[in-house]
Amino acid sequence: MNTLICQSCGWPFTTATAATNRDRSVNTDYCRDCYQDGAFTDKSLSLHQLEVKLLEMAEVHEDISLEEAQQLIKKLPELKRWRLENI
Ligand SMILES: [Zn+2]
Repeated sequence: MNTLICQSCGWPFTTATAATNRDRSVNTDYCRDCYQDGAFTDKSLSLHQLEVKLLEMAEVHEDISLEEAQQLIKKLPELKRWRLENI
């Protein structure tokens, strides 16, 4: 199975947990947590809020280290969702 990187949260996901378009087809740019039925689940989410969220996740989840979260945060501006925001 292909591992994909969500272009919103930077988290790896598979086609089984991929986002869906409005016509219910699979959208492999995003994970299902971020994007469902053709729209972002949290439209008002800013890049800064996402950074805070990832750091909080690292504190709560034992399988995510702070270093991993920080690495991820560094890559966020390269992702499709946040690149578009900067245009
Ligand atoms: Zn995501």
